[in-house]
Amino acid sequence: MPHTPAYAAQSADKPMGPHTIERRAPGARDVAIDILYCGVCHSDLHTARNEWGGTHYPCVPGHEIVGTVTAVGKDVRHFKVGDTVGVGCMVDSCGHCDPCKAGEENYCENGFTGTYNGPTQGDHANTWGGYSTSIVVNEKFVLRITHTDQLDAVAPLLCAGITTYSPLRHWHAGPGKKVGIVGLGGLGHMGVKLAHAMGAHVVLFTTSPGKIADGKRLGADEVVISKDPAQMARHAASFDFILDTVSASHDLNAYLVLLKLDGTLCLVGAPPADTPHPSPRVPNLYMKRRAIAGSLIGGTRETQEMLDFCAERDIVCDIETIAMRDINRAYERMLKSDVKYRFVIDMQTLKDEAKAA
Ligand code: NAP
Ligand code: ZN
Repeated sequence: MPHTPAYAAQSADKPMGPHTIERRAPGARDVAIDILYCGVCHSDLHTARNEWGGTHYPCVPGHEIVGTVTAVGKDVRHFKVGDTVGVGCMVDSCGHCDPCKAGEENYCENGFTGTYNGPTQGDHANTWGGYSTSIVVNEKFVLRITHTDQLDAVAPLLCAGITTYSPLRHWHAGPGKKVGIVGLGGLGHMGVKLAHAMGAHVVLFTTSPGKIADGKRLGADEVVISKDPAQMARHAASFDFILDTVSASHDLNAYLVLLKLDGTLCLVGAPPADTPHPSPRVPNLYMKRRAIAGSLIGGTRETQEMLDFCAERDIVCDIETIAMRDINRAYERMLKSDVKYRFVIDMQTLKDEAKAA
């Protein structure tokens, strides 16, 4: 599909703007997708602005993609034209290492190819994501969407959903477990919904007093204002698991001391490379055999499991739909923690903009 309208950052200090990319013609195992909606992840902003280093320009972000299949290659087995599908953070991996064979391509030993800013594929310098009208993806990385009545609100499950679902499952969130979620943004609000659906006692930590009521509506049993030491102290040494989704550097000790014996603080938030989290105090770890861990998105097997889990329980994201041209304003609001709770781009707005140009 040559000449695909998109939005790109041309450099770290330039706003997102209209750009044209070329998608490859579908190969034998490829699925071509007309993109209907794409969620806006904080990772899009980190990457567009080169906050982690290593961004290739022009950069077309977007890895929370839902759309309709428009063509399939001759060897595609699982999808047909007209199917509703999703694409998350990955579009390729080696396929032969142990994690890949287990459907955990997110931990591919040879490095998976990101949906955007991934290594060279074909003639392109890097991969381009979902801030565009179409995409071509190997069917191994295409997810089936059965929840088709609120597609815009399903889109962010492809990153925010799986990035919280995977660690909650890995650390056994469920009945009898006290689980903390730090930060009520795109990831955090799905963490609250999913941990609640898994049956855990959920405590939300937020810096924003204006989010208390929403936190409870989304499924938190308790909400703690993390800037208030007295509120924090009431939860000392009581958590089995805390999932930290904060996008900026902060003091991890404040959460470590809330874990009970053998508790785990799992970091999924990824602050800019020039402002990492300060190192935590080691006694806060050994005094209660506590652990700090991390988790990276999720593999295709677990992403499909999460989509089915959400479809069965009618779980979708709380979103604000935006036009493609409003992406720079959306980024500024995201930086002020002013997202309720995920922006989703209606890609019809880009199709209309491109037609009018
Ligand atoms: P987001 O929507 O901007 O949410 C981040 C939330 O963190 C904010 O809403 C805010 O919540 C809190 N926060 C922001 N700045 C803070 C600060 N200085 N101190 C304390 N709290 C602060 O971002 P997101 O899309 O959920 O992404 C969150 C992070 O996860 C990003 O760094 C992103 O790159 C990363 N990420 C990682 C993975 C992975 O696989 N590990 C996958 C996707 C995204 P309150 O207002 O409630 O305090
Ligand atoms: Zn993401």
